[in-house]
Amino acid sequence: MFSSFLDLAYPKSCHICGKYGGYLCDTCKKTFKRNLPECYICRRISPNFNTHTQCKNTNSLEQVIVEWEYNKVSSKILKNYKYRGARDIAKSLSEFLIQSIGNVNFRNTLFTSVPISFLRRNERGFNQTELLVEIISRHYGCDFSLDLIGRKIEKGHQSLRDRESRLMVENSDFYIKDPSLLEKYDSVTILDDVITTGKTLESISKIIKEEQNGNYSVNALCLFRGKPYYS
Ligand SMILES: [Zn+2]
Ligand SMILES: [Zn+2]
Repeated sequence: MFSSFLDLAYPKSCHICGKYGGYLCDTCKKTFKRNLPECYICRRISPNFNTHTQCKNTNSLEQVIVEWEYNKVSSKILKNYKYRGARDIAKSLSEFLIQSIGNVNFRNTLFTSVPISFLRRNERGFNQTELLVEIISRHYGCDFSLDLIGRKIEKGHQSLRDRESRLMVENSDFYIKDPSLLEKYDSVTILDDVITTGKTLESISKIIKEEQNGNYSVNALCLFRGKPYYS
């Protein structure tokens, strides 16, 4: 096979420790510490990562699964994955995430990712979570769309700003690009790599719920919980 020829020419090595064999070796996988299921708002234990009824406000997500703690080891892979070998790392991380979360029934949900800003996309040329969302949604037999949520354009792109102003919601960095997508599904599942305060997810949940008059489920699946070590 063509891929085995490539493997010989460029042997795979672990993105964390450098050991040859795969992009994420078994020793490094063991350092990924799984989170206990908790409510993303109060951080107390909650079965299946469901948000406690008493913790919810009108914009809260129903469930925020956060698989691992963010630590020095995982920060290394995320750093590499943001700037180098993104496709290989996204594939290894997605496979490991699927293996770790196991058989979750995502039912009739539409997967999407948090859009990155226009400037950052220009800088990097891609949005790393888009790679993950594609692999993960396919595995669970779900649809995904990168056309659901848009991110407002920064100052300095006036012509682009004018074009999208019709669709904007006041006081939000995000807007719904294609509301018709929501009607085909029971919920939206936002995939994100690191959750810190949960404010970004809540802000996306807000615009989805406003669009649907509050009557819609928004969930999230995040790789890591914690304070990012990179800037
Ligand atoms: Zn390793
Ligand atoms: Zn709670």
